[in-house]
Amino acid sequence: MITKDEIDEILRRYEKGDVTIGTLGSHSALNIFKGAKEEGFATICICRKSDEIVYQRFPLADDIILVEGFNELLDDDIQQRLRQKNTILVPHGSFNAYIGAGKIMDELRVPLFGNRELLRWETDREKQREWLQRAGLTLPKTFKDPKDIHGLVIVKFSGARGGKGYFLANSPQSFHEKAGDMIKRGHLRREELENTHLQEYIIGVNVCPSYFHSPLKNEVELLGIDRRYESTVDSIGRMPASEQLQIALNPTYTVIGNIPIILRESLLPEILRMGEKVVKTSKQIAPPGIIGPFCLETVITDALEIFTFEISARIVAGSNVGIGTSPYAYLNYGEGMYMGRRISREIKTATENNELEKVVY
Ligand code: AMP
Ligand code: AMP
Repeated sequence: MITKDEIDEILRRYEKGDVTIGTLGSHSALNIFKGAKEEGFATICICRKSDEIVYQRFPLADDIILVEGFNELLDDDIQQRLRQKNTILVPHGSFNAYIGAGKIMDELRVPLFGNRELLRWETDREKQREWLQRAGLTLPKTFKDPKDIHGLVIVKFSGARGGKGYFLANSPQSFHEKAGDMIKRGHLRREELENTHLQEYIIGVNVCPSYFHSPLKNEVELLGIDRRYESTVDSIGRMPASEQLQIALNPTYTVIGNIPIILRESLLPEILRMGEKVVKTSKQIAPPGIIGPFCLETVITDALEIFTFEISARIVAGSNVGIGTSPYAYLNYGEGMYMGRRISREIKTATENNELEKVVY
């Protein structure tokens, strides 16, 4: 594992007045680049050849490193190039999905905005659960074995896969039937069934608040809230029940995009307290705790109970709904603040105060 000392040593050799903000070209890259430009930074994109059109049509990256696959980020020559440009990388969901937390912690010798150690917590379901429980949040129940299933459960698989292959079951028998169906339809591989996560299905509205913890100000800000929009589960209601029954519909949860949402104001006290509790616990489990963006993925029931089923300890793509501004960012900052920009604002402040080592790991 790369130590904080190694990263600090790299930082010492950086030209602090000439920092470049870099990331992989996907997920929330446009959000991150736009924010970096608005805060006056140069930007660099590690981009798959197949995706180059995005960064041509939205020309926010000053420099593009073309690769065949994102794992090339770990190649020595690319890392060297990034360090030469005094790059601080902003990690997002594609870092976990295409490179993996282990390799990032062990092989990426370029400073990352945020706390590397929390990548390990966020990508391990058991650790994630422990974190959220210790923070005192309400979580859905889990079942260890398919034969214990009673009541409706959602069956999940490991890795940041955006809901792909997830399905619902309400008995051991329906678990096996549905699993077979998902494999047949190509959403799932048989060996993945060995590592399932069975979670009580909470009926309610999907709500994902995006927060920002500033270690410099020691404050937790709420910057925006979105809900996910998923195929096929969010389109079932557009078909009559009779047709649903005829095709024995088995909904999937592949995320397609996100929709901004504004909550009843009476839900805000709890939402704000949850953010603070998660940050407080993060300081105990992985000092100095969360740096920058994080998101709680929740379901809110008709009893106004908030169940948290997941945490992302980094920028989420749902924050893209706030590019420009969101109502919550507006309330604090007025026009023009959003997650990508908030990240660069923190890096800029840290640079000006000579405290970059406080936000980079
Ligand atoms: P991508 O680069 O689009 O393949 O995304 C990388 C990872 O982030 C995948 O696991 C996606 O499922 C997840 N992801 C991408 N976009 C979103 C989104 N809008 N909401 C939630 N998760 C997402
Ligand atoms: P995930 O990949 O864990 O973020 O979950 C993908 C989607 O499944 C979420 O956006 C929700 O729509 C849904 N979901 C996940 N967990 C639950 C749960 N415990 N109860 C209800 N819906 C859930």
